[in-house]
Amino acid sequence: MGMKQTVRDFFKQFPNDDACLAHLFEVRYGDAHTCPKCNKSGGWYRLSKVKAFSCQSCGHHIHPMAGTIYEGSTTPLQLWFFAMFLFTKSRNGVSGKELQRQLGVTYKTAWRIGHKIREHMANVDGDTPIGGEGKTVQIDETFIGGYRRGGQGGVGKAIVLAMLENDGDVVTEVIENRGTMAIMPHIMEHVLPNTEIHTDELAAYKALKRVDMNYTHKSVDHSAKQYVGWDRQTTNTAEGFFMHLKRTIKGTHIWVSAKHLHRYASEVEFMYNRRDHPESHLTDLLYCFPKG
Ligand SMILES: [Zn+2]
Repeated sequence: MGMKQTVRDFFKQFPNDDACLAHLFEVRYGDAHTCPKCNKSGGWYRLSKVKAFSCQSCGHHIHPMAGTIYEGSTTPLQLWFFAMFLFTKSRNGVSGKELQRQLGVTYKTAWRIGHKIREHMANVDGDTPIGGEGKTVQIDETFIGGYRRGGQGGVGKAIVLAMLENDGDVVTEVIENRGTMAIMPHIMEHVLPNTEIHTDELAAYKALKRVDMNYTHKSVDHSAKQYVGWDRQTTNTAEGFFMHLKRTIKGTHIWVSAKHLHRYASEVEFMYNRRDHPESHLTDLLYCFPKG
């Protein structure tokens, strides 16, 4: 699509809310969209008082925001789009405070927009299984926390599990339970049969040989793991992913609850999986919506 990426280009493409709504209609339905009511195609016009388009033949209405993260929002679409722009321009994420300042909305609204965008990133990124015959997947886990457990006053940590195909995508899962045995079902869900899996020596991974997935399992000495270098330019390791995640959380948000940790992991995952195509960050967010 070759969409340009400066602030000026952004506002040229999306000068106002109407332009944003027209874009959303176009992306989700297209000009030639067949009316679900009268089956005629190609005749839609914008209604003036509601954020909707109407069929020229029968008057059926289509609301482009319905079924997207914008549904029910009173925040102008242009601010939503601009918030996405800010996300894709930031290396370590955008805090609620920063969104509040840049968008001129309340903190509560900014916080909600941020989480909806992370949810959108997770949907756009999808979770196609990784690995398979002849492929190698590194799996690693890290503990992030702590969060205050309801009523107990104790501090715990959540497990973030990263499954990373060599030269491919990363898939993450956040597991609130401390027990590492909870890891296995997530691996079986995301890593295809016949994959060669590399992990550290955590006991939970020993079960990889027992599950009915024909995995080949190789484990690496935990102390040896420390010597794996992390090259900022060509990072393709679970450690690289975790460093980015921790920088985003500690540097930008300072503290996140376990309940929302998966959203931050999704954000870093979205960016990580497009690390070689920075131009696709914004286009993917602005062009990938549920089809009408
Ligand atoms: Zn119609």
